[in-house]
Amino acid sequence: MAEELKKVDVVIVGTGWAGGITAAELTKKGYKVVALERGKEQSRDDFIGAKDELKYSIRYDMMQDLSKDTVTARGSMKETAKPVRNNNYARFGNDTGGASVHWNGVSLRWLPYDFEIHSQTVEKYGAKKIPENCTIQDWGITYDELEPYYDKFEKTAGVSGEENPVGPPRSDKYPNPPLKTTPSIELFKKASTNLGYHPYRLPAANMSESYTNPDGETINACMYCAFCEEYGCDFGAKGDPIVTVLETARKTGNFEIRNESTVTEVIHDGTKAIGLKYIDNITGTEYIQPADIVVLAGFVFTNNKLLLKSKIGKPYNPETQEGVIGKNFTGHFSNISTYIGARGFFDNEKWNLSMGTGALGAKVDDFAGDNVDHTDLDFLHGYEIRYYHLGQRPIDNNHVPVGTPAWGKEYKEKNLFYHNRSLIIRAKTAFLPNRYTYLDLDPTYKDELGDPLIRATVHYEEQDIKRAQHGVETCKEIMTEMGADIIDLVDVPDDVKFDSKFYTNHFLGGAIMGEDPKTSAVNTYSQMWDMENLFVLGGSSFPHNSNHDPTETIGAFAYRASEGMIDYLGGEGGLLVEAKQTSKA
Ligand SMILES: Cc1cc2nc3c(=O)[nH]c(=O)nc-3n(C[C@H](O)[C@H](O)[C@H](O)COP(=O)(O)OP(=O)(O)OC[C@H]3O[C@@H](n4cnc5c(N)ncnc54)[C@H](O)[C@@H]3O)c2cc1C
Ligand code: SF4
Repeated sequence: MAEELKKVDVVIVGTGWAGGITAAELTKKGYKVVALERGKEQSRDDFIGAKDELKYSIRYDMMQDLSKDTVTARGSMKETAKPVRNNNYARFGNDTGGASVHWNGVSLRWLPYDFEIHSQTVEKYGAKKIPENCTIQDWGITYDELEPYYDKFEKTAGVSGEENPVGPPRSDKYPNPPLKTTPSIELFKKASTNLGYHPYRLPAANMSESYTNPDGETINACMYCAFCEEYGCDFGAKGDPIVTVLETARKTGNFEIRNESTVTEVIHDGTKAIGLKYIDNITGTEYIQPADIVVLAGFVFTNNKLLLKSKIGKPYNPETQEGVIGKNFTGHFSNISTYIGARGFFDNEKWNLSMGTGALGAKVDDFAGDNVDHTDLDFLHGYEIRYYHLGQRPIDNNHVPVGTPAWGKEYKEKNLFYHNRSLIIRAKTAFLPNRYTYLDLDPTYKDELGDPLIRATVHYEEQDIKRAQHGVETCKEIMTEMGADIIDLVDVPDDVKFDSKFYTNHFLGGAIMGEDPKTSAVNTYSQMWDMENLFVLGGSSFPHNSNHDPTETIGAFAYRASEGMIDYLGGEGGLLVEAKQTSKA
């Protein structure tokens, strides 16, 4: 039997940005917070000198061990899902700070269109424009209402950036100027401008200069060391939870992180959450940590798994379209590869591609969201075009044009010649939610503790494929204008299917927000409609995926949820938002 521990004010699953922001905001107000983290303790010191591409980028040392727990994946309801066991295809965070530590730092706001996607689409194009099975819905909040929380996240993480010429309005400029530019970034910007687009520098949580955030945490200037994506920063130069919010929470004396603690269930009485059941990975002992507020911030798959296993909320049924848990699962579109877009090879140019940071680069948003008129397009929403100067590490800096033999003299010659002569432009786009794309518990496969794995069923709709193909064409257009001698496209076949070789770090949905408890699991404070002291944070609450990366929006909603929790604890409880009935049922 699980041992019951002393009650605290708040217990959280996970220590990424979502859990970390909650911990900082609640402990600053004097509340006692415990965060349960399945992975090991880690700090900035653990990353010193850790520029080891084999360890981190090939063997994925910082990622979840997929032999112990993973997801299963299938491309339609007719198939049997297979477990994803290869970190090439699934790179989930695992230790203190989660994936929020080995993230790149690309910090983007979503567009006003995103939050009102259903009503704005109907208003502009008519209801018939929405494909039959597409389940886009409004979020119950507008961009303007979320804007102050975006501003807060940017100031905490120290985002370096410049104004997006076609971006949404801002109440303040970025807290830091943009990162350094490079000749290849300038080439991308010039070519995009020539074509009539509006390039701007990627907003980055990699510091352009030393910065102290409003909580008093100092983040150092970035060294452009290139070991950023998939790595922790030994310079303390990447805005991540370890150097910001977790440290802020720790300094209050009200915070404890309990590492090696895998949460297995939400304990509840049917109307209120009582606490979290977890297992100590080292001793195998089970505990229950009771709390006044329970927060799920364990990333999309854990959040959904815990809700389904603990029987909280009604599971989504794709046949009847009833129920909410598991609904509107989405991701960024991939074609069984790390990107879709265009790689150009230049015979007469050479760059220093060995330096870079996780979010060094530029992008074009002319096709993002609803920035372009969709009347004559056969898809909704859009894509962004990005040139990344990530910094190519020794193993990665090894590209040759398609058709080159995989070994021998010709391979060696081309490999040497094209070293530092090839650039990639990526099209980033999401698949939109649809009726047949959802999460549930796998009937066959179990994790190492004997609980069912979470199963992802993803059915790409025609519009998802058309949107991605359009994006690849725009990449080709820009790469041609940049003057590449050879262009290899990573294109999307018409019959592409999702399977256990998907690739994206940006999965969302399953416990989505909205105004109506019939069609959403949480309200805009991330509070469960069915259980007022249970808050479900992170990308699981997003009703659809955008073309932009999700983390800044996850951070903004974590600030909003924390505000709600503080009101909840200081008041008389209850729902923080009145439910509305928007569905016809
Ligand atoms: C390589 C990589 C690069 C990325 N780059 C970017 C980027 O540039 N921009 C961007 O916007 N996004 C990026 N992302 C996505 C970004 O990392 C996530 O959106 C973000 O980390 C989500 O924050 P979170 O707090 O919800 O989850 P996480 O940071 O993943 O934290 C969840 C935590 O919960 C813990 N946990 C999970 N299950 C349990 C359990 N059962 N018990 C106890 N603990 C548990 C995990 O160990 C983890 O520490 C990237 C992701 C990866 C993998
Ligand atoms: S590139 Fe900059 S932010 Fe990234 S790990 Fe290196 S020093 Fe840190």
